[in-house]
Amino acid sequence: MFKIDFRMQLPMYLSAAFCLIATISSAQITDPKATEVWSPEPRVVTPGTNNGAPSDAIVLFDGNNLNEWRSVKDSSAAKWDIANGAMTVKPGAGNIATKRSFGDVQLHIEFASPEVVKGEGQGRGNSGVFLQQRYEVQVLDCYQNRTYSNGQTGAIYKQYIPLVNACRKPGEWQTYDIVYTAPRFNNDGIQVAAGRITVLHNGILIQNNVEIKGSSEYIGLPKIQAHGKAPIELQDHGDLVRYRNIWVREL
Ligand code: MG
Repeated sequence: MFKIDFRMQLPMYLSAAFCLIATISSAQITDPKATEVWSPEPRVVTPGTNNGAPSDAIVLFDGNNLNEWRSVKDSSAAKWDIANGAMTVKPGAGNIATKRSFGDVQLHIEFASPEVVKGEGQGRGNSGVFLQQRYEVQVLDCYQNRTYSNGQTGAIYKQYIPLVNACRKPGEWQTYDIVYTAPRFNNDGIQVAAGRITVLHNGILIQNNVEIKGSSEYIGLPKIQAHGKAPIELQDHGDLVRYRNIWVREL
């Protein structure tokens, strides 16, 4: 006599039952309100005007003073020059860093390459924005100035080539809007999640959530070393690069 082995048919019965349940439960939702989520409610942030700081940002430089900055060399007061609402790298004074330390951030920073063009390649308007004093978003004048691609403006230095070259002419103000997720380390100092970075240069996406490979190194490979929150650092590479309107939102 013909017999059906129930065990063979089980998957079929189960999937049929599952479809039936899914059909019933979606059929039961007839009220659009049933899928509305009201809590938590995002807090209100007042946007800035003309790339200005939103209401919940920490202003790191508003054109008036370097109170939020210190010299990296010896932790003394930052000695870069201030004029016309901008700070200018003071060659030889060395890098400067924020007094505060940060983890994940949204950073807005504006820079201008020297109006008087001198040098070429890496020698033209070189500076840099270091997240957590380790990971450099390259600042360089790459307006009609060729250098190695993973070292040009907006490169995650020697790790990621920018998607495009969005440079304005020397002397013109440019913006970086950076979204940075710090790497995560466990209690043994092992990296359990790489850092990530997104960069918009003059409003144009040039780094799309790339995975940081480690510290930015001039020579050799990136290094992974455990660290906690750390300052944002700006590079003195000997060129008269100007910065203005710097603000950060902790994420
Ligand atoms: Mg640099």
